[in-house]
Amino acid sequence: MGDTATQRNAVRDAVERVTEMMADEKDYLTDLDSAIGDADHGANMNRGFEAVHEKIGEMGDAPPDELVKTVGITLVSEVGGAAGPLYGGSFMTASAKFEDGITAESSVAFAEAFLEKVKDRGGAAVGAKTMVDALTPAVHTYKKSIEEDDLEPVEALTKAVDACQRGVNFTTPIRATKGRASYLGWRSVGHQDPGATSTLFIVEAIRETAVEYLGDGDLEPDATSPTVPDEDAEGEQGETQEES
Ligand code: ADP
Ligand code: MG
Repeated sequence: MGDTATQRNAVRDAVERVTEMMADEKDYLTDLDSAIGDADHGANMNRGFEAVHEKIGEMGDAPPDELVKTVGITLVSEVGGAAGPLYGGSFMTASAKFEDGITAESSVAFAEAFLEKVKDRGGAAVGAKTMVDALTPAVHTYKKSIEEDDLEPVEALTKAVDACQRGVNFTTPIRATKGRASYLGWRSVGHQDPGATSTLFIVEAIRETAVEYLGDGDLEPDATSPTVPDEDAEGEQGETQEES
C-alpha cells in the first residue's frame, strides 16, 4: 500500500480515527461494561488511545511497524484491566508482520498474529463472550476474502466489518465464561460484550482509513475483476490519495 511515507500516514490516520471513535463511544462502552463488568471499558479505551495518539504524534518519521508497536506498548502501559494487555500485547506482537511494509499479504499476517496473541494471552475461545467472538470472524473473513476470493483490501475489510458485527451480536445471548463478566454466570446473558464492541470500532476505523487511502469507488462484486492489483503493482491507488 504505497510507499513508506504513505503507510506511515495511513497508520497515523487510523490511530486518529480510533482515538476519535473511542472518545465518541466512551459512554456507550462504559454502559455496556456497567451491565456485566465494572463500568470502565469506555474510560480505559478512551484514555489508552488518547495516550497512543500523543505518543504517535511525537514519533516523527518512524516506520509504520514501529508506530504500530508503539500503539501496543502504550496501551499496555496506560490501560489497566483485561483489555489493555490484550489489545496492547497483540498490537506489539503483530506489528512485526509490518516490518517489510503494509501489503494485502502482510495485513492478513498481522490480523492472524493479532488474534493468536489475544487467544494466547487471554485463554478465551469463541463463545466465551469476549472480544475473541468479534475478532475471530473478522480475521477469518478478511483472510479468506484476500487469499481465496481475491478481493481488494477495502472489500475484504468491508466483509470483515460485517462479520465482526455478527460476532458482536453473537455475544449478547451467550453466557460469559472468561473475564469479569464470567463472575455473573448466567446473569451475563442478554448483554452485549463491551470488548467485542470496541473491537468492532477498531476494525471499522481501519476500514474507513483504508477507504480513504485506497478508495471505494469501484467495489465490483466481481472477484475476477482485472483491477485487482498484484503485489508488485501496489501503491498506485494509495499515492493518488496522499495529502500531506
Ligand atoms: P476489565 O474487565 O479488567 O475491567 P475492560 O473493562 O477494559 O477490563 O475490558 C473488558 C473486556 O475485555 C471484556 O468485555 C472482554 O471482551 C475482554 N476480555 C476480558 N477477559 C478476556 C479474556 N480472557 N480473553 C479475551 N478477552 C477478554
Ligand atoms: Mg471493565
